[in-house]
Amino acid sequence: MSADISDTFVQQLQQMRTDVLAQLRAQRGGKIGRAEAAGDRYDVQSGDWAQFDGERDLAMAIDQRETAELKAIEAELDRIAHGDYGLCSDCGVDIPVARLHANPTTMRCIGCQERAERSSGETRPKL
Ligand SMILES: [Zn+2]
Repeated sequence: MSADISDTFVQQLQQMRTDVLAQLRAQRGGKIGRAEAAGDRYDVQSGDWAQFDGERDLAMAIDQRETAELKAIEAELDRIAHGDYGLCSDCGVDIPVARLHANPTTMRCIGCQERAERSSGETRPKL
C-alpha cells in the first residue's frame, strides 16, 4: 500500500477514534441527563441511584462495545505504523482498498471473512 493511501486511512481511523471517544463521553455524561429525564423515578432528596441498575448496565454494555471498537481502531493504526495494514490476517493477501474504505478496521479479505463467519455461525456482516 502506498504512503498516500495509508495516510488517508490514518486520517479515517483517527476520525473514527475521535467519533468513538465523543460517543463514550456523551454516554458517560448522558447517563445523568437520562436519569434526570426520568425524574419521577429518581429520588432527588437522597440522590439514590440504585434503582437505575438496568440503565447503568445498558450504558456499560454500550461502553464495552465502544471500547472494543476503540481497541480495533488502535490496532489498525498500529498496523499502519508497522506497514502491515491492509493485509488479510488469515491469508496475507492485500485487502481491496474499497473494502478498507467501507470498513477500515476489517482484518480479513472477503473470502476469509466469509469463511470465518460461516465457521463461527455469524451471519451478520461485520460493521
Ligand atoms: Zn484472506
